[in-house]
Amino acid sequence: MLEIILWPIASLMVLFIAATLKWSSRMRERVGFSFVLFVLSMMAAMIASVGLYVNDPSITSIEFSAALNFTVMMLGIGAILYAFITTKGGVHEDAWDHAWMYKLSVIALVLVNEILMGWAFSMISGTDTVRTHSAALPQLMNILSASVNSYWFTFTMSAEMVISLFYFRKQMPSEIRIMVASQAVIMFLLPTALIPFNGSSFGVYAGSVAMLCLFIYIFDYLYKNRNLKVAVSNYIVLLLGVFVLMMASLFYWSAGGGMLPLAFSVVAEMILYFGAILNAGAFAKTKTVAWLRKPTWAFVLLSLIFAGEYFMAGLLDVQFYGVAFLSRVDIAAIGQNPFTAILALPFDFIQYVGLVTGSIWFYIMMGTEMGTLVVFQIGKVHQLETKIRLVLVVVAYSVYSVLVPFFLFPGPSLSAIPFLGWSMGVGTSGAFAPALLIAMAGTYVISGALSFLFGGRQMCSMFCTAALMYQGTFYDSMKKFGNSSRVAKKVRQNKMSTLYMVTASVVWSSIFLAVLLSYLTSLGVINVSLFGVDPIVFAYVFYFNFLWYVIFVSIPFVGTYGCVTTGICHWGMFNQFVGRLGFWRLKVKDPVACVNCKTKDCTTACPVGLTAMPGSFIARSEFRSYKCIGVGECASACPVDNIFFYDVRNWVREKLQARHPDVSRDILPGIGGKQN
Ligand code: SF4
Ligand code: SF4
Repeated sequence: MLEIILWPIASLMVLFIAATLKWSSRMRERVGFSFVLFVLSMMAAMIASVGLYVNDPSITSIEFSAALNFTVMMLGIGAILYAFITTKGGVHEDAWDHAWMYKLSVIALVLVNEILMGWAFSMISGTDTVRTHSAALPQLMNILSASVNSYWFTFTMSAEMVISLFYFRKQMPSEIRIMVASQAVIMFLLPTALIPFNGSSFGVYAGSVAMLCLFIYIFDYLYKNRNLKVAVSNYIVLLLGVFVLMMASLFYWSAGGGMLPLAFSVVAEMILYFGAILNAGAFAKTKTVAWLRKPTWAFVLLSLIFAGEYFMAGLLDVQFYGVAFLSRVDIAAIGQNPFTAILALPFDFIQYVGLVTGSIWFYIMMGTEMGTLVVFQIGKVHQLETKIRLVLVVVAYSVYSVLVPFFLFPGPSLSAIPFLGWSMGVGTSGAFAPALLIAMAGTYVISGALSFLFGGRQMCSMFCTAALMYQGTFYDSMKKFGNSSRVAKKVRQNKMSTLYMVTASVVWSSIFLAVLLSYLTSLGVINVSLFGVDPIVFAYVFYFNFLWYVIFVSIPFVGTYGCVTTGICHWGMFNQFVGRLGFWRLKVKDPVACVNCKTKDCTTACPVGLTAMPGSFIARSEFRSYKCIGVGECASACPVDNIFFYDVRNWVREKLQARHPDVSRDILPGIGGKQN
């Protein structure tokens, strides 16, 4: 009942604060600044008085409130008078740009107003009853947590964000308006505030969708805008940082933790929001930078997006499976012994990272995000074969990476199937036990056979999740880092670099050792485990659920397809080497065109950094490399459309043509690109 009265009051306050914000941005001298701060302070004092009285309806609280209001009023009037006397006259248009203290004070007072309103209205409406008779820090933190996580705070704040965004819309570029608006949407969907409506699950799912949309929007924006204003690039990084904090806090809360970290993250989001609003003009004024020349900035961006997705997926996992999800993983006890702790800490860290990055929600989320970027890419590429391959990448990811493991693994049917059908060979589905021998052997034989017939591209450019992750518009544009970074130049060579050989040796030896230990343990000959985890299972988690993502977010330093160029993926290597022995190669229709070619565009287009194509085309009309994963960007880049793909289909066609020149064209028309 009381809510019917409170909502109109809250709405009026929202309108008033938003209008004050707009008004505050028009001030250009100290008297005006002081007046705005006075109005906001008085408002805060009045709301605090209401809160204090509801918290403790006594004469003491009335007296304290009166004293508080009087003190604020006196200080405010004093500040205005002082500003009036000491101001030498004249309005400085640029005063606003340097008024950092003033802007921070405005933001702080708006927040104080909102927090006090959340606290007071929660108590009056009875939705939250955090009362205190002490001003000690823990009590104040309780009030902050209860207020910020109440819908009185989030609903009014998001309304205020939308209204103030409307007021400031003309000063902001349209892309920034969209990003800023997403902050209001995500605030509105805060799960903790929806608890009274039984809507926290809805908040988790809808908030995650909103966040995903924002990530996709940012990727697309960066893809289309290689040059950014400094203020825009700073805002994007800060925005992502704040959302990582929010997601981490929500994950913590969903796992049974408190709401205080979430309250702090929401306050951080608010500060960023109002900072952006009050500095709207700066988005157009600052100097421009080419973000593809800023590897550190790009690395921070990718790391933040990965961290946001990690916590978001963790939150969804806990929401879907319950808190029990977190105990699915074996953890080493840290204990008192420092030596054990040194091993246990990184072990636990990797296990927890792997728990989420190997979970179905992480794949769904990644697939949605990266898949959307691949769909954008499909619209941009010209070659039909590449279009079809990209469609298959999306389909393969959905079926192979999400649906199959979701229904099949781990399951009793595992020992009966001849092909694990997913992911990276050994370790994928558990210890290397005798029951898995047929399935494992089948996996290598079938995958190897496909690579022999169609090249390693069947894995690295199609079935592997990496194909989806590296092939979207935004990630494709980052292949430029491959030519600028020193490390990337070292690993992205036509031949095996020293680093590649060392890494590959370490990877293969460790996989062999882990398989052996796992197998002997499963037979009962020995009993080896890493803190209770089977060696090959841990090796899998380490290489594919942990290290792979480290390499992925390091694109600005190692280039795209780091898994191919550094040699960390034994599964890719296996398929690439078998593919090198088989039918797959690149061919050209006319080698003379390569002799006359001025641009050699094929060499700059390759995402794994291969550059030896022109020489090989000129000498042999074809190019073969174990590192060639058949993405086909060289073919798309060639200005004279000279390159075509050659695999078993072309071989069969040639054989048929040789035997039955008239019939074969009808049976296998146009397979594998154009040929002379
Ligand atoms: S190297 Fe491994 S991870 Fe990378 S694309 Fe190939 S199979 Fe996938
Ligand atoms: S394949 Fe195309 S881009 Fe590459 S050297 Fe030959 S003509 Fe030039």
